[in-house]
Amino acid sequence: MATFTINMKDGSLQKDRDIIIGIDLGTTNSLVAYIKDGEAVCVPDEQGKNVLVPSIVHFADNAAVIVGDAAREYLISDPGNTIYSVKRLMGKSYKDVADIKGFFGYKIIDEDTDSLVKIKVGERFFTPIELSAHILRTLKVRIEQILGSEVSRAVITVPAYFNDNQRQATRDAGKLAGLDVLRIVNEPTAAALAYGIGLDPSERETIAVYDLGGGTFDISILQIHDGIFEVLATSGDTFLGGDDFDKAIIHDWLDQLGMNEVQLHSNKSLSQEIRLQAEMAKKALSSTDNFTGMVAGEAVSMTRSHFETLIAPLVERSLNNCRQALQDAQLGVDKIDKVVMVGGSTRVPAVQKAVAALFEKPVFNSVDPDQVVALGAAIQADVLAGNRRDLLLLDVTPLSLGIETVGGLMDVIIPRNNKVPSKAGRQYTTSVDGQKNLRISVYQGERDLVENNRKLGEFVLGGIPPMPAGLPKIDIQFILNADGILTVKAKELRSGLAQEIDIRPSYGISEEDMARMLLDSIQHAQSDMKIRGVLEARNEANNLLLSGNKFLQQNASILSPEETEQTQTLLQQLKEATQTEDKDLIHQAIETLNDYTSPLAHRAMDVNILKAMKGSKI
Ligand code: AMP
Repeated sequence: MATFTINMKDGSLQKDRDIIIGIDLGTTNSLVAYIKDGEAVCVPDEQGKNVLVPSIVHFADNAAVIVGDAAREYLISDPGNTIYSVKRLMGKSYKDVADIKGFFGYKIIDEDTDSLVKIKVGERFFTPIELSAHILRTLKVRIEQILGSEVSRAVITVPAYFNDNQRQATRDAGKLAGLDVLRIVNEPTAAALAYGIGLDPSERETIAVYDLGGGTFDISILQIHDGIFEVLATSGDTFLGGDDFDKAIIHDWLDQLGMNEVQLHSNKSLSQEIRLQAEMAKKALSSTDNFTGMVAGEAVSMTRSHFETLIAPLVERSLNNCRQALQDAQLGVDKIDKVVMVGGSTRVPAVQKAVAALFEKPVFNSVDPDQVVALGAAIQADVLAGNRRDLLLLDVTPLSLGIETVGGLMDVIIPRNNKVPSKAGRQYTTSVDGQKNLRISVYQGERDLVENNRKLGEFVLGGIPPMPAGLPKIDIQFILNADGILTVKAKELRSGLAQEIDIRPSYGISEEDMARMLLDSIQHAQSDMKIRGVLEARNEANNLLLSGNKFLQQNASILSPEETEQTQTLLQQLKEATQTEDKDLIHQAIETLNDYTSPLAHRAMDVNILKAMKGSKI
């Protein structure tokens, strides 16, 4: 490995140009790792003990900023100036987080609901990017002290479902911390790499990564082939984790102590004491069968089997997410070759057992589940440093992408869970004679009507040469690049007229919103299908009405008065049918009209051809 150093004039750290560090920027804890003597290792604190840096930032009155363990002390004593879970706010607007703002102990504000959130600390405002940069800076200093050289390049991991804005916000936080972020890597991909999965290019397998942390749960299904990691599906729960296990124990103990929640919440030190004891009990029960502790001067106890009963519904919730991901990936459990465990809560034996039972195979849990993502990030960093064979990483679209068509219908061009980068296209035409402009509105979502989906942007393809309706051929292409940026291109093929836009949504969509949109689409599937059926039938009928009336005008001399009258009657009946919500009635009227007019149309065509052959004008 060719290392060269730059001596800094001021005697500060030397720059080690070859070192690229791996960072797991987590919701609860963050870690930094690198390759030492060919092995990925996480960097511990000065005492050489703890590799976890709590993702907590405290602002003192004198403007001093404290990050990590020292900041955690202030969660109870100075909650308004102590920021945690900032990852939940990355790339989000106030509107995105309105539902969950009660979860935070600090102030989240914005006067404009569509712009990115800020956090108010005293009289100052910080963006989640600035706050994350504080955490990243702490990690940077930690590794620089160990290495004795300056580090400027990093790989940072993010959840597989992070959208473009959230990924960009993470990159920006890195930049602000003085790090050149060479790649944003999906956490499940990093976890797989830590187990050496995917490092052999001839390997072809499908894996599940089950990540249960303190407050969030993610399941990802990855397909690995030719050194490529492709996310087939992701699912999860943004409010499910070890904290809920602690709460389950607390509730049980409150019963044992004959207390209720109101009494508990009115006593800050008691609630802190019981929370700490509950977490201690949970951790102990991962390796022993019984726990006894003291709360408010009284003995409390918990057996492993009772704990397992208490958390069973929570574990089941995570399994349901796994089933959903498998369904999205259209895979049965028999198609999953390996299951990788990530996150401190996967140390709970009941969790391991339940996951192994669902996937019908033993799970991979030999690497420390808190460190596995950071270690994998360091391996990816090593690959980028040119020390290993390069690996390509692919992502997945979390929601379908499409455009609005006549009647306000969503026409999906790139379906949900499609791999990224990807490219898809379709041809459209105009619905009105002489139509000069075509508005292309781009939407994201699963519902059949665009009004229920999320608008990403729109543009107008103007100056289409006047042509009868249906004649212009407009080709629409969706190109989604590896960074998740969508380019929409429209081209009228007859005239060559073209227009395109890059869509960079001005604010991110939250996981909660995504989950809600998916749920909505399932709940409304039947009614949506019905509405789509009516609208499609109506569109077809309107096209037929247009061409039918044109046919009557152009062929008046060829048709008998009875034929003209009957065609008019059938056109009128079709028009009336389009005013109903009855899809079958519309289809029936279309069919009756077509049956009656098709021999007439053939005759008209023959006559017109004959006329043309005789040289007369048609
Ligand atoms: P993470 O967010 O991945 O760091 O996970 C932290 C969660 O793991 C917290 O809820 C911890 O209480 C939990 N945890 C850590 N160690 C254990 C253990 N030995 N047994 C059960 N849960 C644990």
